[in-house]
Amino acid sequence: MTNVDQIIHARWIVPVEPEGVVLENHAIVVNDSLIIDICTSESAHQRYHATSVQECPQHILMPGFVNAHTHTSMNLLRGLADDQPLMQWLEKTIWPAEQRCVDAQFVEVGSQLAIAEMLRGGTTCFNDNYFFPEVTAEVADHMGIRASLGTVIMNVPTQYAATADEYIEKGMMLHTRYRKHARITTNLTPHAPYTVDDQTLSRVAELADELNLQVQMHIHESAFEIQNSLETYGMRPMARLEKLGLLSNRLQAVHMTQVDDQDLALLKEYHVHVVHCPESNLKLASGFCPIGKLVGNDLNVALGTDGSASNNDLDMFGEMRTAALLAKAVANDATAIPASTALKMATLNGAKALGLDHITGSIKVGKSADFIAVSQNELEALPLYHPISQLVYATNRHQVTDVWVAGKHLLHKGQLMHVDEQALRADVNAMMKKILDQK
Ligand SMILES: [Zn+2]
Repeated sequence: MTNVDQIIHARWIVPVEPEGVVLENHAIVVNDSLIIDICTSESAHQRYHATSVQECPQHILMPGFVNAHTHTSMNLLRGLADDQPLMQWLEKTIWPAEQRCVDAQFVEVGSQLAIAEMLRGGTTCFNDNYFFPEVTAEVADHMGIRASLGTVIMNVPTQYAATADEYIEKGMMLHTRYRKHARITTNLTPHAPYTVDDQTLSRVAELADELNLQVQMHIHESAFEIQNSLETYGMRPMARLEKLGLLSNRLQAVHMTQVDDQDLALLKEYHVHVVHCPESNLKLASGFCPIGKLVGNDLNVALGTDGSASNNDLDMFGEMRTAALLAKAVANDATAIPASTALKMATLNGAKALGLDHITGSIKVGKSADFIAVSQNELEALPLYHPISQLVYATNRHQVTDVWVAGKHLLHKGQLMHVDEQALRADVNAMMKKILDQK
């Protein structure tokens, strides 16, 4: 018998890698934060002695979701302004509200709320794209989730930084601080082609090369952006980014609702990752990212919720279902993005986009123990013929009972283990009052 930390037995395990596989009556064996074995429950009983054993007899174990694009602190702006087009929403409501309210305290409370929401819904890793990332990093570290923190870079002054150089300098400080952290990584996030000038984008490309950092950027979010770029630079944003050296397999292009043949050729040539945020695109009527076509061209497509101000939740079950359904409508093809592909987009493809697929994104021996248990005992979940289809088309986030990140049990039977929910509620309500008072 080998001594190990934990064994989790489950009725079904969907490891995501290899795609489409479902294991029945298997167990995951965890030691020192890593998955060290995946075997039948019978074999686990015979070969291992565990400090902790958990039975999940009516559950599916699957990798935790990777939310590849969000703005956690915008949870505090959830529902503040709805039903407006993108530029009006940004210029009339969101940017002024941010100028008034965003500071370190706002980011601390917003990050706590968003991470609590994500953990409860089965997300074990997220990429954040917001101001004061050093505050979000501390909150993520404390709450136990895995995170890739981006420093926003742009030529627009905010409470956080006055110039592009100052944003970059703060990003470098964050990078230095978390360079060796087990769960927190950092990346560079120039905001969008219409808010960042050529010189700054070239500098970002140089730094990304020099430090081997991922770069995330909102790209081709709407027709306005394309038009603006054609008028200002005489070329589409993707062509401009190629000229400035930004296109590479470290770049995550968020949104990509406008994709012509030339854009597709560039995405393929440079192996750019695409992060699809269908609910945000639908709500802001930004357009449709043709993910069936992108996946058909062997591009890596990940999923993100975007911020709660344009979604209005951080629900990866909802996002995954919307992505799968919308892909079929856009492609006019019911076979586009089958369930196993949608599940992979929401997990492993996200890890790949963030440069973390050697650590997380699938249930695989040697990877970090980042997985979730999803109950299938509810009447709404019966009958269950195909576990993967069930996860994509007929499961909601309230069925997530347990969440582990790096082997740590962060959600146990629906309860957050390290969050004072009452205190968090009080902090959020106080912050809401402050936001309304300043209006
Ligand atoms: Zn965004």
